[in-house]
Amino acid sequence: MYNLVRGERVKTACEACGLLLETDCDSEGFTLVCPRCSHVINGRSSMLYSLVFSLSAVILMLPAMLYPFLKIRINDYVLTATLFESVAALNSEGYVPAGMAVFLTAFLIPLLYLFLVSYVSFEAVSGRKLPFSGSLAHFIHSLHRWHMVDVFLVGILVSVVKLVDMADVYFGVGFYLLSAVCFFLIASELYFDSRAFWRCHDRH
Ligand SMILES: [Zn+2]
Repeated sequence: MYNLVRGERVKTACEACGLLLETDCDSEGFTLVCPRCSHVINGRSSMLYSLVFSLSAVILMLPAMLYPFLKIRINDYVLTATLFESVAALNSEGYVPAGMAVFLTAFLIPLLYLFLVSYVSFEAVSGRKLPFSGSLAHFIHSLHRWHMVDVFLVGILVSVVKLVDMADVYFGVGFYLLSAVCFFLIASELYFDSRAFWRCHDRH
């Protein structure tokens, strides 16, 4: 890790085409226009988007888990399923490791990941140093490959395809909320700029 001072040349890469660029570092971050593809690179606003998307996902996470994502009607009998009910059903059928894997990868790890991205992005946006932010920024990189809300969504779609010939299957509110969580999570990941965070962190 290197310490940057005002006016020092810093290297960065265009997120759109990968071209390596150089710019001057100042207290307000930096803004560059890529000469190859005209993509606008702004270290600070990128982290602002990351903060907004990750907070949106955190807010939607709990209702997404509590509302049913599927409704299945067989004759006059209607079954609903939420994520927590699915985990409880797997545990009661004896598939405890599978239940734990779903709980961790579809709920706990994504929620923790989103909290940490919000926390670290807030430091880069506000310019205020927060406790343990450096260690937590490292931890984000360990967590990011273990959140699998998108895999869970695909699993729901596969189960719908398999059940559609046997019963009437409807998507519940939870499915749309979960899709929104997935979209915001991916967006926060795309805009999360660890270089912008470390530049801000090193100035303190
Ligand atoms: Zn470019």
